[in-house]
This record gives sequence, structure tokens and C-alpha cells, in this order.
Amino acid sequence: MRRYVEIELKHILILCVIIKEKWVCQLKKQDQQYYVFEIDGKCLNGVSIFLMLGIVILTFLLNPDFSFYGKEFDLAFLFMIPYLVLHEIIHGISYVLCGAKYKNITFGAHLEKGILCCLCKEKVSKPSILISLICPFIFLGVCTYIAGLYLHNNTLIILSMINISGCAGDLVMFFDFLSLKNMMYSEYDNPLAFGLYTTEDLSHKHFFGLRYLETTKDLSKTITKKVVISNISLIIILILFFLGILNFL
Ligand SMILES: [Zn+2]
Repeated sequence: MRRYVEIELKHILILCVIIKEKWVCQLKKQDQQYYVFEIDGKCLNGVSIFLMLGIVILTFLLNPDFSFYGKEFDLAFLFMIPYLVLHEIIHGISYVLCGAKYKNITFGAHLEKGILCCLCKEKVSKPSILISLICPFIFLGVCTYIAGLYLHNNTLIILSMINISGCAGDLVMFFDFLSLKNMMYSEYDNPLAFGLYTTEDLSHKHFFGLRYLETTKDLSKTITKKVVISNISLIIILILFFLGILNFL
């Protein structure tokens, strides 16, 4: 008889543990919200200048004949904007290859604010965002730089320098996100900010180069136009294009 009571007690205990686990899991689900952050502009500029100086010094050490003058520089100037657009396209391709839906990816140019962007307006996992952040740095920065050195092609070296310097925000976010557990990432209508969807309270967490904005249950994702280019961006692109052509001729 005693043995039966022990067995019954065991079953009740197991049942209690299962119910508690389910309850905690449910609570955690309910607590998931977006912690919205933006990149600190001053910090971004600092990292960008640091990267540019680093890569320029490294280039003069590896290749003393390197110069910022001549036809190769003019060609790099001409292809600067298309190369930075390619940077955003690689972000987009990485998101899609990691499982995001193409319809949820939008591109934007707001050059008056210094922004060219690829926004993924659906929640993606931590590995997906890490891959998307690092791919342009690896392919258009590091690989192009090595190819430029190997081929003695200053145009490729200068383009890779511009890209590496332009990767400042991506690198800041990449290293900040490494320390996070169980989070999902999503962008929304504001091209300057993003949301981290998690149960962990991030409102007081200090991230290098990021500024906490707010906590919200939902992000505004109403702009579904595939490409958004501001009028000033169009004017800047045209001016740079004609300057590039004139320089090159
Ligand atoms: Zn980027």
C-alpha cells in the first residue's frame, strides 16, 4: 500500500513540474517584446574614421606604391555609389538565403541623412542577422581588398576601403549581438532604428555604439514599397555620377 502511495506522489510531482514548466514557458512568451535601438551617430563616425585610417595605413605598409590619384581613383569614384548599393543588395540576399521572405525586404536611399539601407521587416534569428551583417564586410571589404592587392588594382583597393569604412554600423551591431541569447531581430519603417525581440530586459543593457529608444509590443511596418529613394538622394546620385564621368574623361 505504501509503495502505491509513493508511486502516486511521484506522478503528482512529475505532473506539477510539467505544469510549472508550461506556465513559465507561457509567461516567457507573453513577456517577449521589442527593445528598439538606434545607432549612435557620433560613435558610428568615430568607428568609420578609425576603420578608414587603419586600412589606409595598412595599405601603404603593404603597397608603398599605392596612391589616391590617377585614373584608378577616378574609376573608384565613379563606381562608389553602385558599390555601396551592392553592399545593401548583399544584405538582402543574405536575409533571403537565411529564410526571410523577399517580399519583406525593402531598400532605401536617404543620402541627406547619410543612409543607404536594406530593411528586413520580419523577425529573423540571431544567426541570420549575424550572417547578413557580416557578408558585405567579407565579400566587398576583405575579399575585394585582397583581390586589389594581389592584382595591384588601386580601384578595387579604394572601393574596398570605402566599403570597410561604410561597414562601421554593421560591425558595431555584429559584435553587440554576439553576447545576446534567444533574441530575434527585425527592422521596421524607421531606417535609423531596429527592434530586438526577446524576453530578456534590454532596456538597461549597455551596447557599444547603440542607443536604447523604447520597448514596444509591435513595430510599425506599413511602408511596403520595395525601393524608397528620397528626391535629395536622386539629385546627389546624379551629381556624383556626372562628376564621376567628368573626372574620368
Ligand atoms: Zn551594411
